[in-house]
Amino acid sequence: MIDFRSDTVTRPTPGMLQAMFAAPVGDDVFGEDPTVNHLEQLSASLFGKEAALFCPSGTMTNQIAIKCHTQPGDEVICDHLSHIYQYEGGGIAFNSGCSVRLLQGDRGRITAAQVAAAINPDDVHKPATTLVSLENTANRGGGSCYHFADIEAIKQVCLKNNLKLHLDGARLFNALVAKNETCRQYGDVFDTISICLSKGLGAPVGSVLVGPADFIKKAKRYRKVFGGGMRQAGYIAAAGLYALEHQIARLQEDHNHAQILVTALQEKDFVGEILPVETNIIIFEVKGRFTAPDLVTHLQRSNILAIAISPTQIRLVVHLDITPAKIQDTLNVLKAL
Ligand SMILES: *Cc1c(COP(=O)(O)O)cnc(C)c1O
Repeated sequence: MIDFRSDTVTRPTPGMLQAMFAAPVGDDVFGEDPTVNHLEQLSASLFGKEAALFCPSGTMTNQIAIKCHTQPGDEVICDHLSHIYQYEGGGIAFNSGCSVRLLQGDRGRITAAQVAAAINPDDVHKPATTLVSLENTANRGGGSCYHFADIEAIKQVCLKNNLKLHLDGARLFNALVAKNETCRQYGDVFDTISICLSKGLGAPVGSVLVGPADFIKKAKRYRKVFGGGMRQAGYIAAAGLYALEHQIARLQEDHNHAQILVTALQEKDFVGEILPVETNIIIFEVKGRFTAPDLVTHLQRSNILAIAISPTQIRLVVHLDITPAKIQDTLNVLKAL
């Protein structure tokens, strides 16, 4: 099977498995797992932050961050397509008791002017706006990347209005590679950042939250409350460490593969609008001979897996396990359709 459903489907590489097998471990709830500690220290230092926390999922790192940044009754500002709102089970309300102000961004990206206009006045009738959360790359924006200057402008609005700024960086490394940016730049501007090790980076499990030491201390308490305290987690942290050390630069290959697929899709009469492809995600409209679900079924008969994200749109995600040979096979299938 050639699996384009998500970049979460990757299997650990032989080198990663070796690193996992060899990892020294201990009980991380006691703070005694050397591999988890190493991963947390490396992550913090990459971003120039004081501390980091290893968690089982990106949903948990995001939700813990929101919990730590807010009080019940506060309001969080984000784009209407944000993962924190669309795909985390209503966690902002459930875990933090906050309302959400959804902004209509451009492919998942919001602007400083939109944020400024969405901040509630200091009025007892209104929920207190306390947090802005951005997503980079934006998943439902088709892997779109922010211009860093636009993030800096949002930061200025946050500073002026005493708002915290969180980044859902599930695919931040794709953005860094695509835009030739650094972790440090992001660490300087965001109060907290969540990164996923199990997306493009190719680890089987895990996300890391980075931030100030007092924040991470509080986050560690909520990780326990949310049931995310793990024991000999070094075996999976080792995969994350390996990914950070060996599997960032190769993301460029995924981006190149995505461009090759876009060129092939542009030739097909049943393909309508293709959202601009900046990284490893392709979202395209299906028209004419096929509906999106029809096309998914046709592709599946040729051993290609994709997801219809709406009745008229299909998403393809390129990743570590999509080899050049699999790209060629996909091109052959597309040609014959
Ligand atoms: C995958 C993802 C997450 C985290 O999801 P988990 O399945 O909980 O790891 C968060 N934000 C974005 C944008 C994602 O794509």
